[in-house]
Amino acid sequence: MSMRSELYIDGQWVTPSGEETIEVVNPATEDLAGQVPAAQKADVDRAVLAAGLALPAWSETPVAERREYLRLIHQGLVERSEEIALTITAEVGMPIKLSRQIQARLPATIMGSYLSLIDDYPFSETIGNSLIVKEPVGVAACITPWNYPLHQIVAKLAPALAAGCTVVVKPSELAPLSAYLLAEIVHAAALPAGVFNLVTGYGETAGAALAGHSGVDLVSFTGSLRAGRRIAEQASASIKRVSLELGGKSASLILEDADLAAAVKGTVGSCFLNSGQTCSALTRMLVPEALYGDAAALAVECAKSFALGDPMSDKTRLGPLVSAAQRERVLHYLQQGVLEKAELLTGGADLASCPERGFFVPPTVFGRVAPEMTIAREEIFGPVLCIMPYRDLDHAVAIANGTEYGLAAAVWSADGAKALQVAKRLRAGQVDINGAPFNPLAPFGGFKQSGRGRELGKYGLEEFLEVKSIQSRQP
Ligand code: NAD
Repeated sequence: MSMRSELYIDGQWVTPSGEETIEVVNPATEDLAGQVPAAQKADVDRAVLAAGLALPAWSETPVAERREYLRLIHQGLVERSEEIALTITAEVGMPIKLSRQIQARLPATIMGSYLSLIDDYPFSETIGNSLIVKEPVGVAACITPWNYPLHQIVAKLAPALAAGCTVVVKPSELAPLSAYLLAEIVHAAALPAGVFNLVTGYGETAGAALAGHSGVDLVSFTGSLRAGRRIAEQASASIKRVSLELGGKSASLILEDADLAAAVKGTVGSCFLNSGQTCSALTRMLVPEALYGDAAALAVECAKSFALGDPMSDKTRLGPLVSAAQRERVLHYLQQGVLEKAELLTGGADLASCPERGFFVPPTVFGRVAPEMTIAREEIFGPVLCIMPYRDLDHAVAIANGTEYGLAAAVWSADGAKALQVAKRLRAGQVDINGAPFNPLAPFGGFKQSGRGRELGKYGLEEFLEVKSIQSRQP
């Protein structure tokens, strides 16, 4: 259990201004996993002030020096990876095997990726008689969700520090414990005081205070569309820069000539990862009408192989949802799918097969889902796959592009050139062909209402940079 009573501000652990606390619940057992302070506006003010005071010196630190701090943080993330995996499994419920591979390893990979990137990045260039310099935007507020809690922080922190910004992090109230490990790692790296600050708290109080704060120059937000809209509104008063990584309803487009078994397996695997609580999950599987029966049978078989249960067991592939509220939301969608006459092929709202304690729902597959159904349009954020048959390629592309989201997509085909052509027609920020592996240097972000801006690699760094043109005339 992780009981935390302090915030990390200006290089020290400090007592919060109020008494309010947040209980963190282990979603698999419903027991207490830890406790953190619920920061108030006064705490946010203190953190933003510290970040503002630290900015001039940090922004002028030579790149090589900033790189050395990143290296030390990377080293800390690697050294404490087992503790990180255990903490995130306790707060989020992801099976421990996957937590080790993804929740713990990914943040270290992302931090590591900026070590070489920062060496090569051109922070200045010449265009005609102008010197173009890239400067840090200033104080960055990072507001993050619970599903990949440490990755989502590090995907902002690493480029922000590399760019020379100072940072205030506000993690999700549902999974704030791993952020404390990061603060300890940052402290051990002896980052100058005020460059990194951690305030835990609720969205409506601490989050809103940060998003609207006059001392914050940029808000980098990952989370729901609803909160993203609110944050963009709050930030607009002072024309802050805002980057938003929001939800998705990503399509997996299986072409006639694809290896069907591999395509279905890859799609179900993506859809059910982290119990379906992944923004880029492939939740709509589009199959040619002629292959519908085979694809549905394969999907059901695959879904049933997802052993549900204790996330601390090596045999478990599907953990619980993060909270009771999230389970209620998902159950509502499962009922809605049946009401709107989608075919329930496996799973559903009957929890008889689930453990008594914990916020579990069974792995679910809906067949013959039509584009206008609620479950085809809205992000469910649970282990729920929708299979949608299509007539021809144009129809498939229209279905794939037919939601308000545009985060990710997949194309499966034996013909690489055809797959690439289809990928180019999809209105989504990232498209994977034939189950290609994740690339930590490739830009990640959404079209349409999936967001604004990109994270990771060089594009992620540029979100934290301002561009200045200096024109010279010879005296
Ligand atoms: P959420 O929007 O409820 O919360 C995210 C963060 O915003 C939390 O820290 C919360 O406290 C804060 N917040 C909430 N309301 C706020 C407000 N008015 N002002 C300031 N801060 C506020 O989202 P969640 O439920 O934690 O996460 C799930 C959502 O995140 C899903 O929709 C998912 O698709 C999305 N997501 C997107 C990406 C991406 O990269 N595109 C990645 C992961 C998750």
